[in-house]
Amino acid sequence: MLEDVEFVVVGCGPAGAEAARVAARSGLTTLVLEKDAVVGAKRVCAAGLRPRFCETFDLPRELVHCDTPRLALFDARGCEHEVYFGPGHTTTREELDGTMARLAAAAGAQIRTRALLRGVRREGGRAVVEYADLLTGARKSVAARNVFFAQGAAANLENEPALRFAEWTNGLMTTLQYRVYLERPADPIAYKTLELHYYSARDGRQIVAWTFPKRDHLAIGLGVTGKLSGERLREELDAFAGGVRARLYRDIPFTAKAEGHLLYGGLPRPQIAAEHLMVGGTAAGLVDATNGEGIFEAAMSGRLAAEAVVASRDRPCGAAARYAARATQRFSGRLRNRVALMRFLERRPRRYGVLFEQLERSPRLADILQREDHERSAIDRLYLYVQALRFAARAARA
Ligand SMILES: Cc1cc2nc3c(=O)[nH]c(=O)nc-3n(C[C@H](O)[C@H](O)[C@H](O)COP(=O)(O)OP(=O)(O)OC[C@H]3O[C@@H](n4cnc5c(N)ncnc54)[C@H](O)[C@@H]3O)c2cc1C
Repeated sequence: MLEDVEFVVVGCGPAGAEAARVAARSGLTTLVLEKDAVVGAKRVCAAGLRPRFCETFDLPRELVHCDTPRLALFDARGCEHEVYFGPGHTTTREELDGTMARLAAAAGAQIRTRALLRGVRREGGRAVVEYADLLTGARKSVAARNVFFAQGAAANLENEPALRFAEWTNGLMTTLQYRVYLERPADPIAYKTLELHYYSARDGRQIVAWTFPKRDHLAIGLGVTGKLSGERLREELDAFAGGVRARLYRDIPFTAKAEGHLLYGGLPRPQIAAEHLMVGGTAAGLVDATNGEGIFEAAMSGRLAAEAVVASRDRPCGAAARYAARATQRFSGRLRNRVALMRFLERRPRRYGVLFEQLERSPRLADILQREDHERSAIDRLYLYVQALRFAARAARA
């Protein structure tokens, strides 16, 4: 007998775990397939969270390592511009993903670890998901009314013609991060600040680098568009980390652990749903190209997918279209604008300084940019428009 459930979720990151929690809480039989043995244990991430993240997703505040009201933006010349907002927060993915998975299981979802997706086929109005049980090596199948793909940057979805995206690989970035464990605390300002740095690599490619504080370490990392050899990436990271050390933890002994992963920084996937299939989180390209933020978008897309499945329970084939409409409306415009802004800045890196200066001088601009479009008033939109014109005029002269 083929196992049969209403909702299969592939991947137990923030997108998959939130989808599973919302679906299970509404009474849907929900199965999560996760390739790793321990949810979140292998996730490489700076794990910065936007203001009110825990409240939005009904998560315990204990997850938060540091509240970070200060954003330090370093432009292409290394000049620092500070913006106050939020506050934002930091955590680790072991804690975030582990907690979200636990809450999904408590709501009734079944989380099956060491289960690696192999493919999906259609059969009699259902999707049949094939996966490998990595413990026994057996190949298994489960039928579902709807499937949510949330397997992160690894999801090229080449075998799904309706969801395939030729530009996917071009949007991938290589990242490397150190977890720096200090014997004594760093400069106190480090624990209040999210640092983001934008500068050119030695080969001219654009680098985005960060220093995010955690309870017991600093996450210091960088990402570069396209592929870069491990050796070159480490050279770039060592040079960057050396600068951070001189400012924040000079003379403090430390140990460092390196970890690397892919990050997606391109356009959102144009097609994120087809028949019984939906795609969310990074797999759908829902990552903000300007700062690499994607945890919020991932969890919110998971919620939208589950809500669409619940709302279409009597007509499961309607869920995908319902999800696509809501997720596209919520994210696509903003994320496309962010990609366009990044490309505009990268063409003349002096423009970073122009933008950051403007953000520093207009705290309201930073505040409005943090919000989603539906949270902005008409006056906010007008203010944003005027600021955009001002930036365009100044950037044209830079
Ligand atoms: C270095 C780095 C720093 C980042 N910093 C931040 C930050 O500070 N703030 C922020 O908001 N975002 C950040 N991001 C982006 C953030 O990590 C992603 O947006 C977020 O993880 C997306 O969540 P997701 O659920 O879509 O996918 P993921 O978190 O990638 O989860 C995917 C899950 O699917 C599983 N999986 C993959 N393939 C399969 C398969 N075939 N079968 C079964 N399971 C599978 C994986 O094991 C994983 O558990 C960063 C990313 C990187 C790489």
